[in-house]
Amino acid sequence: MSYEAKLAIFNKIKEYDRIFLFRHIRMDGDCTGATKGLQALLKASFPEKEIHLLDNQSSGYLAFLGEDEKEAEDSFYEGALAIVLDTATPDRISSGKYTLCKELIKIDHHINVNPYGDLLWVEEEASSCCEMIASFYDTFKDSLTMTPEAALYLYTGMVTDSGRFRFRSVSGETLRLAGILLNQGIDTDTLYAHLYLNDFDVLKFRAEVYRKMKITENGVAYIHVTEAMQEKFHLSREDASAVVSALDSIKGSLIWIAFIDNGDGTIRVRLRSRFVTINSLAERYHGGGHAMASGATAYTRKEMNALIKEADQLLGDYKANNGGWL
Ligand code: AMP
Repeated sequence: MSYEAKLAIFNKIKEYDRIFLFRHIRMDGDCTGATKGLQALLKASFPEKEIHLLDNQSSGYLAFLGEDEKEAEDSFYEGALAIVLDTATPDRISSGKYTLCKELIKIDHHINVNPYGDLLWVEEEASSCCEMIASFYDTFKDSLTMTPEAALYLYTGMVTDSGRFRFRSVSGETLRLAGILLNQGIDTDTLYAHLYLNDFDVLKFRAEVYRKMKITENGVAYIHVTEAMQEKFHLSREDASAVVSALDSIKGSLIWIAFIDNGDGTIRVRLRSRFVTINSLAERYHGGGHAMASGATAYTRKEMNALIKEADQLLGDYKANNGGWL
């Protein structure tokens, strides 16, 4: 199944002279690594083709991976192939320009709630979309050229989307493919410095988060990062949102949630869990995502409180009916 999907995509890539790559809004390491990685891989493999990646987003901690192209005339997209990476639904694609292209390919590892595109290759079990691109390379390596640059992009996405190779989705195959990339000569000291170093204010903010976090009766840990907190600690929205990982290691707290004021009255919700599946909960609050990492939006505080209550019930039910959790 996966081989046929990969082969169809490989053949389609060979057919086109001009290809545009797309990623999702709120760029992260995986969609950035997968788009940049595939771009570098295809450029090195097919120097005669034009492989474009246009995106007006920017992200502080990923800035070290470099800028993308910023603008192109609409006519430029005509007759081209669009490949959308790491994006479950079309409404989350960061640019609507993919609609101008002649054909569309979806490559993704999220739950396939919306199977869009003329061709699609979705591996819900893959730990990252970058892992899929690494596997694409491995399958057709006799016809493709990997470069140290492409390997760095793809490895970055694999590392960031798998919780540093920690999540259950990481398989032996994940590590084998990561090994192929590492052997290209990645400077992991520098990479991890980019991923781990924090500004002083951000650490002060973390201390405040540990002071203010709350826990429900059944163990849902949560924090509301208000507009005021974001101003006090001079946080970018991205820094404020990263806080969800601060709640990830509380014993018995199998679900943890960060609520981040968006500045327009709405609240971004970042849900994470271990053992318990939470994407259906996110779907009930205008969101979705993976079984154990989902996103949603609360339009009012009332909705935020309702979500906390539902999460608490979900966790209570889980604990009552399952053993072996920590
Ligand atoms: P986040 O907390 O924003 O990093 O989201 C975690 C996961 O949930 C990501 O893999 C997203 O693809 C997915 N996700 C986030 N927000 C939404 C949304 N509004 N609708 C569907 N999926 C989402």
